[in-house]
Amino acid sequence: MNTPIILDGKSVAAAVLDECRAEVAELLAKGIKPGLAVVLVGEDPASKVYVGSKARTCADLGFYSLKVELPAETTQEELLKVVRDLNADPLIHGILVQSPPPRHINEEAIIRALDPRKDVDGFHPENVAKLVLEDPSGFVPCTPAGCMKLLEVSGISTSGAEAVVIGRSMIVGKPMALLLVGKNSNATVTIAHSRSKDLPGICRRADILIAAVGRPEMVKGDWVKPGAVVIDVGINRVPDATKKSGYRLTGDVAYEEVAPLCAAITPVPGGVGPMTIAMLMKNTLQAARQIGTPC
Ligand code: NAD
Repeated sequence: MNTPIILDGKSVAAAVLDECRAEVAELLAKGIKPGLAVVLVGEDPASKVYVGSKARTCADLGFYSLKVELPAETTQEELLKVVRDLNADPLIHGILVQSPPPRHINEEAIIRALDPRKDVDGFHPENVAKLVLEDPSGFVPCTPAGCMKLLEVSGISTSGAEAVVIGRSMIVGKPMALLLVGKNSNATVTIAHSRSKDLPGICRRADILIAAVGRPEMVKGDWVKPGAVVIDVGINRVPDATKKSGYRLTGDVAYEEVAPLCAAITPVPGGVGPMTIAMLMKNTLQAARQIGTPC
């Protein structure tokens, strides 16, 4: 039985936030106070938790932070107006519209309305193009950026490694695959998805396996090559009567059976989640640096 390295996202995120703190002090000395606006439409409980912790981290770092909470009935036009106003607000360097919005909102149109210079989620087509082009002036989506940072800080080499990413979303899977195959990483990458054939067989090829699906404990022990590094992006709420909340969080990986086989693995919670927020703060600092003040 092997003892894997637990990739502790909490402590790596804390170190990233310390770097951010130093950079905030430098920006403040130049008269720039980094500002992040987080827009939440509706009452999705998980989104509320994420928005709350983003606002707390902003406060902790000394950012200017604006939380815009809108009712679920907010129309597309009303939301577009909020985005346009934030685009024009000189105190705001980063704008994040919490996903998923209610079903009547066309999320794609909202993303396209963002000023790409303030798109700290990295979802605007201009930033997607910069990611493909490996242009560092673009914003890299926070979750895959956090996964790469976790690998880098943990001394895990991706160069020449077989990496398998399960999931092809624009938020995680696709940008993750682009980062892994990019010239700073040099992995050989396979992207698997809901129509992939023989998913367990594909996963067994992986030296580095990234699960970003949203299905609790889908990746089983016999899907994983012994000695692999496993990054579990999934955050799933599963009913648990023993918890006060009535649920517990679990990843996309069956941790108990997979962990003993791995060289390294992320826990859920406490793995990728804290890294996502830390990279959001880093992206907001990048926006503040690039835009300067006044914008
Ligand atoms: P998504 O629903 O947009 O995409 C899921 C992907 O999984 C799709 O591309 C789909 O093709 C693939 N998929 C679905 N069923 C599959 C199956 N049976 N076999 C193989 N592939 C399958 O989700 P997302 O936004 O990419 O998020 C994925 C997970 O990551 C969710 O649990 C989400 O909560 C979590 N997440 C975590 C963080 C974090 O900070 N840790 C951030 C974003 C998302």
